[in-house]
Amino acid sequence: MDALPEIVRGVSLSEHTSLGLGGEAEAYITVREVAELKAALRYAERRGMPVLLLGGGSNLVVADGGFAGLVIALGMRGVELQREGDVALLTARAGESWDAVVEYSVGEGLAGLECLSGIPGLAGATPVQNVGAYGQEVSQRLRQVDVLDRANLERRCMTPEACEFGYRDSLFKREPERFVVLSVTFALTPGGAPSLRYAPLRDAFTDQTPSLSRVREQVLRLRRAKSMLLDPSDPNSRSAGSFFTNPIVDRTTLNEVLRRAVEAGVIESVDEMPHYALDDGRIKLAAGWLIERAGVAKGTRRGAVGVSAHHALALVHHGGGRTADLLALARDVRAKVRERFGVELLPEPVMVGFERAPL
Ligand SMILES: Cc1cc2nc3c(=O)[nH]c(=O)nc-3n(C[C@H](O)[C@H](O)[C@H](O)COP(=O)(O)OP(=O)(O)OC[C@H]3O[C@@H](n4cnc5c(N)ncnc54)[C@H](O)[C@@H]3O)c2cc1C
Repeated sequence: MDALPEIVRGVSLSEHTSLGLGGEAEAYITVREVAELKAALRYAERRGMPVLLLGGGSNLVVADGGFAGLVIALGMRGVELQREGDVALLTARAGESWDAVVEYSVGEGLAGLECLSGIPGLAGATPVQNVGAYGQEVSQRLRQVDVLDRANLERRCMTPEACEFGYRDSLFKREPERFVVLSVTFALTPGGAPSLRYAPLRDAFTDQTPSLSRVREQVLRLRRAKSMLLDPSDPNSRSAGSFFTNPIVDRTTLNEVLRRAVEAGVIESVDEMPHYALDDGRIKLAAGWLIERAGVAKGTRRGAVGVSAHHALALVHHGGGRTADLLALARDVRAKVRERFGVELLPEPVMVGFERAPL
């Protein structure tokens, strides 16, 4: 039988989340090997305890009452690089810091992940919500995801198709109790050109093909300016990143949103509202724009919580607050957007420890 690592009681999840919020875990284990992970899953199964898989805690909103179950912190480390013809296969185990993986790929001259620099958290969580930024998403470069199937504790290799990726979405996000991501393998391009799809990134360069490392540095600069890098000295970065996803709507809804925006005097002509046509004919709206135009200004403060001074989509905990305060603010923001534009914002982070969806 595999050895079970030490179980710790009374761990406050506020110390393991980027928001610095959330109550205690009933039990907490750190696993560094797959055998330990299996032992921890068996332990929870025998006792009928719910399980929370914990990466870097940068996409979690944990209830003030904590989590009545076993938190398994995933600490399996290791990175491996292999060549396959013109492609470099980079494998990172789940517990590696995501930004360290990106930094390593850029240092090796491998194109494909450079725009994902500075996203907090661990490598194993990146497929969960198909992390993306500045024109790149992990699904574009994923070759395979190695998982542990929780139904039988067997390992499986999943193709990107099997992961059912979407915008900030995947099978792992929709069915959180099915798999543990053990490692992710990316197919990267040695000596490839950086991606400059995102206009503010492209505009920062006068030359057409800046090096991968210059692009990484610029991405980090842009993220820092928006407090989207975890930085203990920046109070606006104490968040879960974007609190809402960008709404995806059909054309009829878009026209209705535009009509309401003109009627409310928010815009004079329809091209003043940012929106992006997707390949499937639907339209992506900019949640941050909707929030600000609904009257919620950046830097809004409500006691211990508020809206980031640098990014209307990020809700921030300034210290000494409760998750309930943050959720009350989130509900308010959502109601204002609904009232003005008729659009329902959906939360991006994973809610933990609630009996019913709190939003
Ligand atoms: C300042 C800031 C900026 C951010 N910017 C971005 C951004 O630009 N783009 C973006 O997409 N996201 C962004 N995020 C959100 C967040 O960083 C990502 O979602 C990240 O991938 C979460 O990783 P984590 O390790 O912290 O996961 P956690 O928050 O620990 O977990 C998130 C979810 O994944 C599950 N999970 C974690 N590890 C595994 C695993 N190995 N197997 C199965 N399930 C697992 C957890 O159970 C949970 O449901 C930002 C967050 C912050 C705080």
